[in-house]
Amino acid sequence: MNAGFLQTPIVYLKGVGPNRAETLQSELGIHVYQDLLNLFPNRYIDKTQYYKIGQLQKSNAEVQIVGKIIHLKTVEQKRGTRLVAKFVDDTGEIELVWFRGQKWIRENLKLNTPYVIFGKCNWFNGSFSMPHPEMELLSEHEKSLRIHMQPVYPSTEKLSNKGITNRVLGKLVQQLFVETKGKFSETLSDKILYELKLIPKSEALFNIHFPKNQELLAKAQFRLKFEELFYLQLQLIAKNMLHKQKIKGFNFDQVGTLFNDFYANHLPFELTDAQKRVLKEIRADLGSNAQMNRLLQGDVGSGKTIVAVMTILLAIDNGFQACLVAPTEILANQHYNGIKELLAGTGVTCELLTGSVKKTARKPIHEQLENGELHILIGTHAVLEDKVIFKNLGLAIIDEQHRFGVAQRSKLWHKGSPRNGEVGGATPPHILVMTATPIPRTLAMSLYGDLDISVIDELPPGRKPIKTVHRYDSNRLKVFQFIRDEIRKGRQVYVVYPLIQESEALDYKDLMDGYESIVRDFPQPEYQISIVHGQMKPEDKDYEMERFVKGETQIMVATTVIEVGVNVPNASVMIIESAERFGLSQLHQLRGRVGRGADQSFCILMTSYKLSSEAKTRLETMVQTNDGFEIAEVDLKLRGPGDILGTQQSGMLNLKIADIVKDNTILKSARYFAMQLLKDDPSLEKPENLVIRHFYAELVRFKNIWNYIS
Ligand code: ADP
Ligand code: MG
Repeated sequence: MNAGFLQTPIVYLKGVGPNRAETLQSELGIHVYQDLLNLFPNRYIDKTQYYKIGQLQKSNAEVQIVGKIIHLKTVEQKRGTRLVAKFVDDTGEIELVWFRGQKWIRENLKLNTPYVIFGKCNWFNGSFSMPHPEMELLSEHEKSLRIHMQPVYPSTEKLSNKGITNRVLGKLVQQLFVETKGKFSETLSDKILYELKLIPKSEALFNIHFPKNQELLAKAQFRLKFEELFYLQLQLIAKNMLHKQKIKGFNFDQVGTLFNDFYANHLPFELTDAQKRVLKEIRADLGSNAQMNRLLQGDVGSGKTIVAVMTILLAIDNGFQACLVAPTEILANQHYNGIKELLAGTGVTCELLTGSVKKTARKPIHEQLENGELHILIGTHAVLEDKVIFKNLGLAIIDEQHRFGVAQRSKLWHKGSPRNGEVGGATPPHILVMTATPIPRTLAMSLYGDLDISVIDELPPGRKPIKTVHRYDSNRLKVFQFIRDEIRKGRQVYVVYPLIQESEALDYKDLMDGYESIVRDFPQPEYQISIVHGQMKPEDKDYEMERFVKGETQIMVATTVIEVGVNVPNASVMIIESAERFGLSQLHQLRGRVGRGADQSFCILMTSYKLSSEAKTRLETMVQTNDGFEIAEVDLKLRGPGDILGTQQSGMLNLKIADIVKDNTILKSARYFAMQLLKDDPSLEKPENLVIRHFYAELVRFKNIWNYIS
């Protein structure tokens, strides 16, 4: 059946009509035949199996049993009665129970006659019972031709209220198969079908809706998942290739004096091999005539900043300006101070622009940006404002990508240099996105297919793994004693409180209560304490932060504002209060604030006794491992990809059948086949690939999928 026919509005399908069409549209997003065809069942009721009563498990879902009723009685209960039947086979007995329709059942059920019953079995008080079973005489059952695996389609309350039950949906899908004769165009090439032993499209679609047996269902699922992921990867890879061809970038062909001088005379340490490798990858991009769009992943403390700085030097060496954008003022400040210090004596100019920079101070910054005197601008979102104009921005770096949306990324794009006066606008700057949220590679591949990925997978030498423990609130006195001991050794301590938007007022109260109790237990002048939270004025925050950085205070009480990037190597203890309320990646980020110096560092996760099983998993994972990627995998399993990437991106991958986490192996193979295909036949013109080319064009034309990719 060709694609055009499948674009027929659903209202024309026999059995639908205007009312149902509207409900199908609003509830399930079904507009045309194709959408109904792609409404894959959530699960199946398996009627291929017959259970013996003796085999029943307490956790059994729906089961089908052959046996007979030997006894029927009415039982009085608080309100009304129930009808109870004793149902037996040669291995045991269960109770069948009815609350409704008792009279009819009593009159029609035959005793001591073989029946096939089907329903959900409950385990209660040492015996099994099945309320309101479906029943059929065995003699009838054997005669009838039946679909053994019944599809269960997604449902909503409104759907069932409007009479579009699961049965009705199944009927409509059946009707669709009648009208199309169940013939659908193949969408994968013979080569792929052969190599992966995939079943044909028509067979897959039939068996996903009406599986003949478990084996065919599995084959249908595999084929359709592969197809979905294959076309997703094909699109991403094609986009990436196109990107490289089309988007011209500034060619940084010089490795000039600045870079070389810095490398030889100013670099405070030997780069790790991973840092060197990543710099090489970046240099290759910058000299390729195409725009760089690179994601740099590296666990907290892996040393991304120095890579950023050296990339910036390459830009300046080639006569361009650079900017570095961070998600918080504290972090922007810290970058500014750190980078200024690194570049002292090199002649490079660097300024800070954040929301709290005064108007009078902004004016010279704007001027120097426009006349090119200023080499580097570091800041927050303020850098993105329209009035910030560069003379020739050649490189934009975004730190901690997960706080940034796609829109902001694209804003930077358009800050490119206008000086070469090209038709159609300016050349975009090279873009480097840095993140400490270790997105599992396969997921990154799928979501950021348009970005190339570099990974710093090695920590600078000499770091001792952070010791992490979980303590209950009742152990607080011991924890405080531990803090005292560490402070006596000259260390500094973070105490972090959760701050969740929904319960902000309460959270602030917790923070202030906590602060007061710490002030009480750690009295001045022996102890100095800083506090930083989101409701403070930026100047005050900076002042407090500064005192901690300089070592004037020993304890920093804070909300998660310190989560990102802050670097105080002498701080060696991280106490996380109400740790059960933090997500895994957040806990890992917070822990990354310590362990930056040569001393043994500690992370103490404080919780109450009341813990959900998910919270327990998070805490256990933190105690067991320091590896950000391992943690990210667990996080992904607990929360799913949407949550990990934040609300902006969630729903980005509304796949119909594949699951990016569970179907990871299929994803990898889909990506491999898509790569091979495009390598071998980039514009899909070989005859054997026409089938793929057509379907791909159709997907784009009808926007059936992937219009969600930015
Ligand atoms: P992140 O990747 O979390 O941004 P940073 O760039 O802040 O990490 O680096 C963390 C700390 O490690 C900094 O104090 C930095 O000076 C130090 N560092 C970075 N690279 C190295 C290296 N190759 N050898 C020793 N220390 C390093
Ligand atoms: Mg950083």
